[in-house]
Amino acid sequence: MSHNCLFCRIIRGEIPSTQVYSDDRTLAFRDIHPVAPVHLLVIPKEHVELIASTRPEHEPLLGRLMRVAAQVAREAGVDGTGYRVTVNQGADAGQQVDHLHLHVLGGRRLGGMG
Ligand code: 5GP
Ligand code: ZN
Repeated sequence: MSHNCLFCRIIRGEIPSTQVYSDDRTLAFRDIHPVAPVHLLVIPKEHVELIASTRPEHEPLLGRLMRVAAQVAREAGVDGTGYRVTVNQGADAGQQVDHLHLHVLGGRRLGGMG
């Protein structure tokens, strides 16, 4: 846990969020500024900053995050129409929160990448 990290504060319940899934290692909640009808964030409960800062022991956690993304997408009703799972890493990708998170986007036809 990182004291000032926004998403660690959401995990601790210090900042309210609309949670859609929680287990011992991961949390999923609605993005506060959705850019698609379905815009969820899937995060590890451990404070991990970047995919680039993960270690080999994080591989099961990374797999869990992907599977939770698929589950919450299915529960949000977009598995039939499709969705996008994105990780922003660093400045050029526009990463704002330095706590690893997967964006799950769907519910409309998404534009091209880039
Ligand atoms: P990034 O740009 O770092 O990949 O994505 C960070 C995401 O966190 C953004 O889409 C932003 O809207 C979302 N976000 C920022 N602050 C909050 C918050 O307090 N609550 C929730 N639910 N989402 C947030
Ligand atoms: Zn954090």
